[in-house]
Amino acid sequence: MASASKPIYGSGIFKPVIEKCEGCNQVIEVEAQKICKTYTSPTAKWKLGICNFASHVKPDLSTATVKINPLKASKRAMGR
Ligand code: SF4
Repeated sequence: MASASKPIYGSGIFKPVIEKCEGCNQVIEVEAQKICKTYTSPTAKWKLGICNFASHVKPDLSTATVKINPLKASKRAMGR
């Protein structure tokens, strides 16, 4: 029978969160230590960029503006 608490979080498998995790709603406090309830190693999660489960940070998506010659675009559209 499952208990109300989640003993796996206090097992030592889950490493403490890092500074970049501050403000994320995945952070829980277990035995006076802040850990991530999604990933066991927050440091590794942030190694290659923004954590994909971070609720407090959004990736910076930039769109490139491409100039289109209206005349060429029209001809291209007519050709198909
Ligand atoms: S989900 Fe990502 S950002 Fe949030 S606490 Fe876990 S590792 Fe940190």
